[in-house]
Amino acid sequence: MGVSFECVLCGCRRAFDDTIRVYDTPEKVMVIPWPCWCWDCDAVSQAEYVPDPAEVVEEAKAWRERDRDREYRIACGPLGWREDEREPELLAYYDAVLEWRRRRQSSGRCLFCGSVRVSLAAARYGKFEHPGCGGMFECLLSISGSIRQITKEVFSTEGVKLSEEQVVA
Ligand SMILES: [Zn+2]
Ligand SMILES: [Zn+2]
Repeated sequence: MGVSFECVLCGCRRAFDDTIRVYDTPEKVMVIPWPCWCWDCDAVSQAEYVPDPAEVVEEAKAWRERDRDREYRIACGPLGWREDEREPELLAYYDAVLEWRRRRQSSGRCLFCGSVRVSLAAARYGKFEHPGCGGMFECLLSISGSIRQITKEVFSTEGVKLSEEQVVA
């Protein structure tokens, strides 16, 4: 699912392609892209969402309890489909995320320039302010169902991009 952000006041816009992003960890922890204003790109951008260790623990607990009202950020929540079968895999994934998080030192970085000078939006798909303009960025989603090339990027534990390649998704 592609995503773009457009300021309703000044009309500036930036679109982001679907990209698979993983950390260079044994279990391939997924990077959580979050909308932000990047002060070094001087543009709307996407930054890593780096959850607190407590959030990782709480979300895993919510999954075990099949809490469907929670907003799941780290993994897909329980969807009512093969839950008991999927649980061990999910809980192992939360453990891997927690292990990565305990080693992680720096705050979330811009996924394009690597800067930590980013202001993250409060919500993943919500509105947020365009600094210096006063308008609000709105999020637009676009769905592409076709098989195509997609970029896969690998990041270090500290969020520095190590490599990228094209894969067929
Ligand atoms: Zn604006
Ligand atoms: Zn940036």
